[in-house]
Amino acid sequence: MFDYLVVGAGLFGAVFAHEAHKRGKSVLVIDRRAHIAGNVYTENVGGINVHKFGAHIFHTSNKEVWDYIQQFAEFNRYTNSPVARYKKELYNLPFNMNTFSQMWGVRTPSEAQAKLDEQKAEAVAALNGREPANLEEQALSLVGRDIYEKLIKGYTEKQWGRKCTELPAFIIKRLPVRLVYDNNYFNDKYQGIPVGGYTQIVEKMLEGVEVRLGVDFFKERGALVADARKIVFTGMIDEYYDYKFGELEYRSLRFETEDLPQENYQGNAVVNYTEAEVPFTRIIEHKHFEYGCQGGLATDHTVVTREYPATWKRGDEPYYPMNDEKNNALYAKYKALADAEANVIFGGRLGMYKYFDMHHVIAEALACVGKEFG
Ligand code: UDP
Repeated sequence: MFDYLVVGAGLFGAVFAHEAHKRGKSVLVIDRRAHIAGNVYTENVGGINVHKFGAHIFHTSNKEVWDYIQQFAEFNRYTNSPVARYKKELYNLPFNMNTFSQMWGVRTPSEAQAKLDEQKAEAVAALNGREPANLEEQALSLVGRDIYEKLIKGYTEKQWGRKCTELPAFIIKRLPVRLVYDNNYFNDKYQGIPVGGYTQIVEKMLEGVEVRLGVDFFKERGALVADARKIVFTGMIDEYYDYKFGELEYRSLRFETEDLPQENYQGNAVVNYTEAEVPFTRIIEHKHFEYGCQGGLATDHTVVTREYPATWKRGDEPYYPMNDEKNNALYAKYKALADAEANVIFGGRLGMYKYFDMHHVIAEALACVGKEFG
């Protein structure tokens, strides 16, 4: 009999398992994949840590979370500064003085502000004081027509498989707009990439904990549940309840990875392809997460990954929850069931159906640990 059965060896499950084990609880972690670490999994390919399930850049303003993760790895001073390619044009992201200067030839913050005001005027007037109702309205009232058309519309519609008019505004609120020459994608206080990758972090978290890989909870549910006092479930909450109220929607991804015999392919870790005609959203060049800011590119090869958004259907890997009104309402029905469970805790991006970043997941897991163990 285990005190806890943790379903899913991703960040939420690993933090919970680590803390429970530290408190003398017996814990079994299972995962249906053949590896730990969920989607933060990285694999060393000829000296390069490849982010197998999409780029993971750690950033947070939460000091507790930052201190917590430091126990498990040393972080470098990587600062995410993606470049956007629109046809033959290149722009810095997020939207800052470099972008405005590249887009409009403006040089000073007041020139940029004047241009932004002119670009936004129509959308702001149309809103007439009300909140933006969708992503298009949000983007147009934030940065105006030119930036929306070139850097947002195509990328977003590929990424989510829906028109910007049918997407929630909050998605784009993640992106900063600044009148300074600063390409740092995040506003957070702390940022970096773990030297040596993410897998080692989860390995350390799970030290001393029993882990069984290749185990599908749904195939062995009866026996697994019978053997545990409590369950921490980090898979899809709708699947847990056998989709009884219907399916939640997710967005999936397909990755195409190439190992190239050259030192430096694109000169940056992340290049976004923002036009609708290119079928992928971005190319990640993994070595730049660790070498770029430390001098030297160190290897004579490089690994690049093209990221293709994909429609999710049962059996596919779910990457992004579609947090629009319809799906959030459906989630609320599942959550009501979850809240009534005495012995099951739901956690993580899939268990809580939220577009969490890594730092959110750790904060949620620590909050859950606090509730559970006081
Ligand atoms: N986005 C965009 N153009 C870009 C990058 C991002 O329009 O070049 C929008 C897009 O809607 C995306 C959202 O901003 O879904 C959030 O981007 P972020 O990079 O935070 O997404 P993630 O890394 O989680 O996929």
